[in-house]
Amino acid sequence: MKKVALALAALLGFAGTAAAQDYPQRPVTMVVPFAAGGPTDVVARIVAEHMSRTLGQQIVIENVAGAGGTTGITRAGQSAPDGYTIMMGHMGTHGAAPALYPNLKYDPAKDFAPIGLAAGTPIIIVAKKDFPAKDLKEFMAYVKANEAKMNMAHAGVGSVSHTVGVLLNSQLGIKPAMVAYRGTGPALNDLMANTVDYMADQIVNVAPQISAGTIKAFAIATPERSPALPDLPTTKEAGMPDYQVSAWNAIFAPKATPAPIVAKLNDALVKALDDDNTRKRLLELGGVIPDKAGRTPEALQKLVEAEVARWTPILKAAGAVAQ
Ligand code: ASP
Repeated sequence: MKKVALALAALLGFAGTAAAQDYPQRPVTMVVPFAAGGPTDVVARIVAEHMSRTLGQQIVIENVAGAGGTTGITRAGQSAPDGYTIMMGHMGTHGAAPALYPNLKYDPAKDFAPIGLAAGTPIIIVAKKDFPAKDLKEFMAYVKANEAKMNMAHAGVGSVSHTVGVLLNSQLGIKPAMVAYRGTGPALNDLMANTVDYMADQIVNVAPQISAGTIKAFAIATPERSPALPDLPTTKEAGMPDYQVSAWNAIFAPKATPAPIVAKLNDALVKALDDDNTRKRLLELGGVIPDKAGRTPEALQKLVEAEVARWTPILKAAGAVAQ
């Protein structure tokens, strides 16, 4: 019996290795846990295009929105660990969400095989075009004076825009109505239509509309200005020096994905981030391309652990989490 079991294990092990060597044999699904057109979707489509070329198989984007991105990540995390389902997570789904969902069905640090960081995405405070403020100081004064009628857009509890929005409101000392969307792509559409007042979101979503003048931007929450939007002041320059926050997008696979498959996916990501056209597209949108050391699965694992540890006390202090 024991011999049979051993022989079977050897056979299965061999089959697993062979499958990993031949990987991928068919298209790979990348789950984006938000609506199409938003920042997670944009970063996913840009890197997936070049990764598909390296892998010799198409990466197909599947948008599975809901619950601030946790619905799509839960589903993708529970799919077969064979490399054919991967996901684009971010600072919300793999950093802030555990603090906000006591019954979250996954542990960002334990239940995934990290593939690598795709892009850093600074946060920008934006408002509808008709918002009656011309700079951050006027914005701060206006939202404080008109708190009761303010609507802030976000992509669901635990998303980046929700998390950084909660932080912004807590620093402003206001509690506006929070309007949830299935991603900040649709939220941005409503901002452009003047039906919500303001939002804080990832630069790769809002940069084109800021440049086009269809929305207002008050400040970027990083120590330095972004080369993609050189005229936009930092929060420090504009009058809210303590509002410092940045997000990121990264690729994960289900936990038990074989190491050779993880290595192939990471290699394809690294090659995408070295590709001139891919870099250009990310940089034009204000994305920050991770350096070599920041692209490894190990670096992503460390980042996730650090982010989970970072956000829990911040969200508690901001009053977003029951004490
Ligand atoms: N950036 C959004 C968020 O987490 C989600 C999206 O990609 O639409 O707030």
